[in-house]
Amino acid sequence: MSDIETIDIAVIGAGLGGAAAAALLINAGFSVHSFEQAPEFTRLGAGIHIGPNVMKIFREIGLEDKLSAIGAHPDHWFSRDGRSGDYLSRIELGDFALREYGAPYITIHRGDMHAEQIDALPQDSLHFDHRLTDLEERENDVLLTFANGRQVAARLVIGADGINSMIREKLLGVEKPRFSGWIGHRALVDMTKLRATGLEYERCVKWWWEQSRHIMAYATKSDGSEYYYVTGVPVDGWTHEASFVDSSREEMEAIFGDNAHPMVRGLIEATTEVTKWPFWNRDPMSLWSRGRLCLLGDACHPMRPHMAQGACMAIEDAAILTRCLTQTGLSDYRSAFRVYENTRRDRATKVQTISNANTWLKQPEDPAWVYAYDPIHAPLAD
Ligand code: FAD
Repeated sequence: MSDIETIDIAVIGAGLGGAAAAALLINAGFSVHSFEQAPEFTRLGAGIHIGPNVMKIFREIGLEDKLSAIGAHPDHWFSRDGRSGDYLSRIELGDFALREYGAPYITIHRGDMHAEQIDALPQDSLHFDHRLTDLEERENDVLLTFANGRQVAARLVIGADGINSMIREKLLGVEKPRFSGWIGHRALVDMTKLRATGLEYERCVKWWWEQSRHIMAYATKSDGSEYYYVTGVPVDGWTHEASFVDSSREEMEAIFGDNAHPMVRGLIEATTEVTKWPFWNRDPMSLWSRGRLCLLGDACHPMRPHMAQGACMAIEDAAILTRCLTQTGLSDYRSAFRVYENTRRDRATKVQTISNANTWLKQPEDPAWVYAYDPIHAPLAD
């Protein structure tokens, strides 16, 4: 007799989407194990926006209050001209978001958020240093093989393994993501240096230049002690093997410094460490699941980050997939996967398209279709 352990649901990847899926499925009563290739997670220097659409899911997981207490609560998303400082749009968030969209809008250090997500999981369900290297679809389960030699049989496998997803590869074949032609610089900036400029730095502001080049800048802590920016810059190509490389204040100056608004200048001058990252892409995919395999998040619909909704879409996927499996039970997973895809496809594709176009909130517009959406109660597709 085989001594391979059999489990109900394996979530591959414990990133922002995978950790949410595991928490929600466990809360719903399923037996779930998460397998993550990284030996541990570190507090990588980057921020993230979490919209009210997803704070409603964190409410369900029991993390809304904690994340609210850690993160910053911008009153607005401002769009401003990078040189003149003119306001292009002022989108109300803060109390307005709470009242109109049903939950807060926060900006937070992604490492702080992820650490809370990981802590919220039963630690015996979480397996670090487990890189999936092979899978075999069998009649009653899927045999998973990890780089450390362990094998596990799972009745269902959720591919939350990011843009280079191995589960996606099994479903659709080997295809590297496409370089989008855009990179982003990321830096955490010392707030005391910014304060020394005497200027009042807004909690969430996107500075715009020609060709939609931009700097998105925001606070990542509730007490305003940490400030972060991420840029979007079109480039000719990306030739580095590494997932990111060092940049410099001089490079920021060369790209954004010409006649920059004093607040942008202050940001550049306060920059000490800055890295640059390529943005990868895929077209909307024809298949989200097959048999016992199902995808979510960047494995399924990666996008350029300009709408600040990539992780939010991964976490929404997790909520809808959990509701579908709860409705059908584990045995009718085929129906669950079908309803999941039918519920998610249009919304995720729309967000992916607008994100890639980088037009979100540049001009005044009503963001309610994104932020007021309630993934816990919204109707599921037929
Ligand atoms: P990931 O977070 O990539 O997680 C995948 C996990 O799977 C990783 O932990 C990886 O180690 C693991 N893994 C991969 N392969 C294997 C394997 N074979 N075996 C085991 N484990 C494996 N989104 C927002 O909502 N708001 C924002 O403000 C925002 N800002 C962004 C800014 C930038 C610059 C970028 C690049 C992205 C931004 N995003 C934002 C998008 C967001 O980061 C992604 O959409 C999100 O991380 C996707 O989550 P995921 O769980 O699908 O994938």
